Amino acid sequence: MLSTMQDGPLSLATLLRHGTSVHAASEVTTWTGSEARRESYADLGRHAARLANALRSLGVTGDQRVGTFMWNNAEHLAAYLAVPAMGAVLHTLNIRLFPEQLTFVANHAEDHVVIVDGTLVPLLAKQLPGFETVKHVIVANGDASALEAPAGVQVHSYDALLAAQPDEFDWPLVDERSAAAMCYTSGTTGDPKGVVYSHRSIWLHSMQVCMSDSMRLAQHDKALTIVPMFHAMAWGMPYAALMVGASLLMPDRFLQPAPLAALLAAEKPTFAGAVPTIWQGLLAHLDANPQDISHLREVVVGGSAAPPSLMHAFEDRYNVPILHAWGMTETSPLGSVARPPASATGEEHWAYRYTQGRFPASVSARLIGDDGEVLPWDNEAVGELEVQGPWIAAAYHGGAEVDPEKFHDGWLRTGDVGKISPDGFLTLTDRAKDVIKSGGEWISSVDLENQVMAHPAVAEAAVIGIPDEKWDERPLVAVVLKEGQSVTAEELREFLAEKVAKWQLPENWTFVDEVPKTSVGKFDKKRLRAFHSEGRLD
Ligand code: ADP
Repeated sequence: MLSTMQDGPLSLATLLRHGTSVHAASEVTTWTGSEARRESYADLGRHAARLANALRSLGVTGDQRVGTFMWNNAEHLAAYLAVPAMGAVLHTLNIRLFPEQLTFVANHAEDHVVIVDGTLVPLLAKQLPGFETVKHVIVANGDASALEAPAGVQVHSYDALLAAQPDEFDWPLVDERSAAAMCYTSGTTGDPKGVVYSHRSIWLHSMQVCMSDSMRLAQHDKALTIVPMFHAMAWGMPYAALMVGASLLMPDRFLQPAPLAALLAAEKPTFAGAVPTIWQGLLAHLDANPQDISHLREVVVGGSAAPPSLMHAFEDRYNVPILHAWGMTETSPLGSVARPPASATGEEHWAYRYTQGRFPASVSARLIGDDGEVLPWDNEAVGELEVQGPWIAAAYHGGAEVDPEKFHDGWLRTGDVGKISPDGFLTLTDRAKDVIKSGGEWISSVDLENQVMAHPAVAEAAVIGIPDEKWDERPLVAVVLKEGQSVTAEELREFLAEKVAKWQLPENWTFVDEVPKTSVGKFDKKRLRAFHSEGRLD
């Protein structure tokens, strides 16, 4: 029996129209380093319409890809809205990819237009001759004449191009299953892989971001989007904000601890999202330069494991709760969020908070053991996490042959290893490729990192497995000390001795000025392993 319900498409045109009319007075604020540039959502709607008209004039009439090579700012947000809503496909280029990866993704996605921030023109200029399908480059917030175009590419000034356009656009209601946006994984192994989001997947994911047991984004929020808009769609915050009328605060290129602290003081956001290394840096800055940040009702931390010591520092010293969440580019990215059951108090409450969180109703999960068997949710059995759901990738751009290993039986193989409690909370012990195999047993690098980072003298700690004749692999800890602090490897071992099993206690320690980071700010263990094998960590 068929239902009697209407079947309105979950199209981003509707989201744009809603956000920019019903929430006309909400704002996107772009930080310029010392002051704020403000645009109401009503103006953002007109801005997006001018951009869509401009893109149409450059031949974007169907599902052409429009690349962005941008910081987080109002212009990037306008592209987030205009490009999918006009029926084209937004491709957020990761400005920190290695040159050959950047060329690969622009060609693989077949970008037709690239919108670039003026400050990033020199970086793009080096790559542009290798971008085979790009016909137009639009320079926003900068001087278009600074870019020398390769043959066949036209360069435009964003302001001049948009100024000539009408500020209305007849946004089409495209099929909800068609492509809206794409984002490549940063490619820790092999070529980057493209994930193509649909209008429907973005719409449903946005609703999840706003749900009260999720990130809880709401009309009264001013959400600081530190996570780059090229990293897994800024974790869904831009679209979710338009859905509920939350204002957005964009840090542009001012991502270092001191400018971020200045931005917090000036704009007092209520919510923010970033990877743990950003919060570690901000914490060190705040400890040296105290400032009230309790205007943040909550901040979401994901992308890699949030160390419990970080969660306690923010909550106990700054009155800012950290909400731990797990996700991937392939999962839009919201996969799980750690909000404890109401009945959990004290230590039990915190134990839930440390986990990667609970899966929402739309995301199914299972754990797979070494022999391919499905493991129970008993918070003990450890296996590879697989997920399924309406905002989870079913394949990469280019078809099943791009990475056949990654998908099977309709499930996404996450490459993450962990356990799940009977009430659905996920605890990740590692990425499969980072697990340390010592004497036939597994050591969780994340566990060791969290324990070492709990020492008051330690700013950051990253643990990798290094080859060992007797045990196969043993952990090596790379430690960054807090400014003005000192501690020896022996003291750190003693500190750990009460917390981890004796056979897991690392005997290899190295003190470094900084842990190398990936293009999205995570500990780069691949480079750390390379440094070790080149003898650069002793
Ligand atoms: P990349 O693979 O390039 O780092 P992603 O941001 O898509 O790009 O990475 C997703 C991965 O990040 C997950 O598979 C997982 O390994 C890790 N991750 C994300 N959130 C968490 C978290 N809360 N705890 C531990 N690991 C996490």
